[in-house]
Amino acid sequence: MATPAILALSGGVGGARLCTGLADVLPPEALHIACNVADDFRHLGLTICPDIDTVLYNLSGRNDPAQGWGLAGESWQVLEALAELDAPTWFRLGDRDLATHLFRAGRLADGASLSTVTAELAERLGIGARLYPVTEQPLATRVDTDDGELPFQEYFVRRQCQPRVRGFRFAGLEAARLQPQLAALARPGALDAVIICPSNPFVSVDPILLVEDFWQRLRDTGAPVAAISPIIGGRAVKGPAGKMLAELNLPVTALGVAQWYATRYPGLVSVFALDEEDAALAAEVENLGMRALVVPTWMRSREDKQVLARACLDGLR
Ligand code: GDP
Ligand code: CA
Repeated sequence: MATPAILALSGGVGGARLCTGLADVLPPEALHIACNVADDFRHLGLTICPDIDTVLYNLSGRNDPAQGWGLAGESWQVLEALAELDAPTWFRLGDRDLATHLFRAGRLADGASLSTVTAELAERLGIGARLYPVTEQPLATRVDTDDGELPFQEYFVRRQCQPRVRGFRFAGLEAARLQPQLAALARPGALDAVIICPSNPFVSVDPILLVEDFWQRLRDTGAPVAAISPIIGGRAVKGPAGKMLAELNLPVTALGVAQWYATRYPGLVSVFALDEEDAALAAEVENLGMRALVVPTWMRSREDKQVLARACLDGLR
């Protein structure tokens, strides 16, 4: 039998958790991951790609599980030295993490593309899955808030998601081209399934699906598409997804997420996975034209990740 091709769309933490499960249950060459880049930014002259790095660190087992970002066993000597220089330290860069950023900066300065550098990092970290930035071009989330429009990291890290959100804009979207290998996968017959990880719908998934109408291309392949709710029991497992749903006047539930996808990407999602805790919402999810898959979706352990990965793959058959 030919190797299946599964495409996962991932942001950082929620996406990386499910990608770890998928990598455990699939042959390495079967898993392709399209990663959000709209959180990327320049800092201290370095190109920082938080979501790509979170996926790299999780898939290679190097992540810090307590913090949810960065590397396990990190030290902070460079950051302390930067503080002595009165350099910006609001974005926490660990010493070991810096090696990734220096490697990337060096290769980008050599003229390598972000796709090439990402593939090199994945390979050197011993990752079998293929990991792609959704685009090579600059794409940057701007958060429209009551305090005006803020660059993503300004909103997320510096302002701790405090300002009230009114909407989002992705600067560079018109000029952004889909990463070529992803464009090749988004053709009829190339993919067996697509999995929209339980990532933040607004700032992780949208800036993937909107690049060159990726969502329409995926829908038109006819491959089944599963989306997993990042909201469990009316709360985000982590991060501002719940706060954003409320501020955008959507229900702060898995149903709110399903509604967002159904409205913006009609006909895309065939299966919507929601937690057993939210089983009562299944009928309303199905009214949106998606099959509801009620499964445990909170990925605390490695086994939880594998169970959810298998449930999604089986649910798409
Ligand atoms: P970020 O880029 O680091 O913010 O990460 P993502 O966008 O990939 O994921 C953030 C979302 O993941 C949040 O809305 C969380 O609620 C969700 N999330 C994190 N861990 C889990 C989990 O174990 N299960 C589910 N269902 N969602 C999760
Ligand atoms: Ca992110």
